[in-house]
Amino acid sequence: MLVDTHCHLDAAEFDADRAEVAEAAAHAGVGLIVVPSVERANFGAVASVCREYSCCLAAYGIHPMYVERAREADLDALRETVVREHPLAVGEIGLDRFVDSRDDARQEFYFNAQLQIARDAGLPVLLHVRRAIDPVLKQLRRCRVPGGIAHAFNGSRQQAEEFVKLGFKLGFGGGMTFPRASRIRELAATLPLDAIVLETDAPDMSPEWMAPPAPSAAAGAASDAVVDGRPRALAARNTPDQLPRIAHTLAGLRGITVQAVAEATTANATAVLPGLARIH
Ligand SMILES: [Zn+2]
Repeated sequence: MLVDTHCHLDAAEFDADRAEVAEAAAHAGVGLIVVPSVERANFGAVASVCREYSCCLAAYGIHPMYVERAREADLDALRETVVREHPLAVGEIGLDRFVDSRDDARQEFYFNAQLQIARDAGLPVLLHVRRAIDPVLKQLRRCRVPGGIAHAFNGSRQQAEEFVKLGFKLGFGGGMTFPRASRIRELAATLPLDAIVLETDAPDMSPEWMAPPAPSAAAGAASDAVVDGRPRALAARNTPDQLPRIAHTLAGLRGITVQAVAEATTANATAVLPGLARIH
């Protein structure tokens, strides 16, 4: 069995065929799907997807790309939701210094407040980190949560080791399927296997076999369909049933069997997100 540790199954992209997408994932051997929230307004959608599909488990949090329209009352709502729902984790939360129009102080305020909520509840966190690994590590050292996952990890070996020291696993997905992603592939091949979990980040981060030819810089800049910080319109919709093929890529990079990858990454996901054991 595989665990998709990051999949936005509540996203509007799945409104037309969510049941088929969930069914295809189950059929492909993806037994558990972690569904993170991005803002208070979608806590309800995440909760209802997780009620409807027993393979789905919720995390609640405010994504750094959504803090601009967040209010402090949303933090109270998050705290209440965490107490009431006992979610798998707080997430996805973090820092994103990729886009120009951003408010770093505001992102740090919400990130830190949510780390405190996770710490107080004894919950792990799901991290979104773009061009901000060192500031995220600094906050994690200040507010010790019981580990979590650095989703779509794209840093250095030393940064990977720092996350591991703080009790985190590193999420690998579609990014490592691109031959030109040499740094991510090198890490996926050589980091200790017990540091790695798998994810699709569907509907985003389509793997190499689903992606159209690389867009030109001009096309990227012109796209206004940026969701979760990425230009969705430029790639085919990713789905959680792609996880076995992503696992196959990891097995190939490491020179081990898919079975070994499945066993290790599922054990790693359960170790860092103990709530998974409640239903599996
Ligand atoms: Zn995400």
